Amino acid sequence: MSRLLVIGCGGVAQVAIQKCCQNSETFTELMIASRTESKCIELKEKIEKSGSPVKLSTAKVDADSRDDLVKLISSYKPDAVLNVALPYQDLTIMDACLECKVDYIDTANYEPEDTDDPEWRAIYEKRCEEKGFTAYFDYSWQWAYEEKFKAAGLTALLGTGFDPGVTSVFTAYAAKHYFDEIDTIDILDCNGGDHGYPFATNFNPEINLREVSANGSYMENGKWVETKPMEIKRVYNFPGVGEKDMYLLHHEEIEALGRNFPGVKRIRFFMTFGQSYLTHMKCLENVGMLSTSPINFEGKEIVPIQFLKALLPDPASLGPRTVGKTNIGCIFTGRKDGRERKIYIYNVCDHQECYKELGSQAISYTTGVPAMIGTALVVKGLWKKPGVFTTDEFDPDPYMEMLNTYGLPWVVDENPVLVE
Ligand code: NDP
Repeated sequence: MSRLLVIGCGGVAQVAIQKCCQNSETFTELMIASRTESKCIELKEKIEKSGSPVKLSTAKVDADSRDDLVKLISSYKPDAVLNVALPYQDLTIMDACLECKVDYIDTANYEPEDTDDPEWRAIYEKRCEEKGFTAYFDYSWQWAYEEKFKAAGLTALLGTGFDPGVTSVFTAYAAKHYFDEIDTIDILDCNGGDHGYPFATNFNPEINLREVSANGSYMENGKWVETKPMEIKRVYNFPGVGEKDMYLLHHEEIEALGRNFPGVKRIRFFMTFGQSYLTHMKCLENVGMLSTSPINFEGKEIVPIQFLKALLPDPASLGPRTVGKTNIGCIFTGRKDGRERKIYIYNVCDHQECYKELGSQAISYTTGVPAMIGTALVVKGLWKKPGVFTTDEFDPDPYMEMLNTYGLPWVVDENPVLVE
């Protein structure tokens, strides 16, 4: 029996909400609140038509406004808030949860919308120097809430999507069941899907393009090593998908795993990209279309990347046209009982199967399902403790079990090909 407030009604939210409704034993009442309420109402009507017993309601909310959020949370009185809006809103939603004394869950770590903001920039530049990586997002902003959440007796569960999220649960599971010591972790994110457009992103274009056009980095012996964007390329033959080019990227779970598994000697993250995607992205970057700094156009201020977002296909609309599969997982090397060991834990997800089930493509599906699972474990009390946590800091077993039940079954390969 629980009451959940979900903020955001985009690609990921639509999956997370429909999955919560499949888990009606845990989620009995749910409010969908977002910037555009019509999307929330449309989803509510779709779910109600399917005969779900979950009591749904909707609201309009500006998640950039703490006051607006506090008003909504204190009137709905949820047991937890699932933030599947954008990473820009993480801190305002965390503040509102603290004020209203509710648990907080999200899928992506904080980054500012305006990276030219001088106040943010000063802190960012200091962090780049101290830590040695230049990504716009990092955990410091949200980890700074640790004492506040602890004192309030509340849980903040950060990053319960697939990556981060499931990849960190895979790490906790490998550490619990397969290794005494883990030496290396390679996180591999492969999207073998084809949507038929010359260029589109599978999730929010602003967030996606910022992430992939940034410098890459990995952790070695507790220190960050930074690379130029797309500097390190490997080819890997993915089970269920086939051979793909993949590139080393900075990714947020490296930071949390590096902190929570200090004995691991090297942690890397690779994502697959086709040549056409990279050429389009480079061209857009070269002409300034990926910029987040406002410019004046014919007397009106516009942000180039937001204008680009308006031109690109809505990620939520890619579902019917995307065919092929994703494969996301982690390769671990290390030792168990004094013997060398390597394993690969992964999930293969089919775009068209996701579309048939929920009307969405696999990227939203593989993020929305773990968002529901993390939230369910918090509200059921299995993953509830005071403070701010990532998904590698709890018992992985119930999460792994729910992945199998809710559409993301996983495989353990005990003799994988390693990434050079
Ligand atoms: P979308 O852009 O499709 O959806 C974002 C939603 O948030 C929209 O409904 C949007 O409203 C709403 N929103 C944006 N700003 C506000 C605001 N100020 N107030 C209220 N609502 C707002 O994004 P996705 O669904 O693709 O992504 C959602 C989250 O999931 C992102 O944080 C993304 O980084 C994360 N993610 C995590 C992954 C993981 O594996 N961990 C993978 C993929 C995504 P409107 O409809 O009006 O635009």
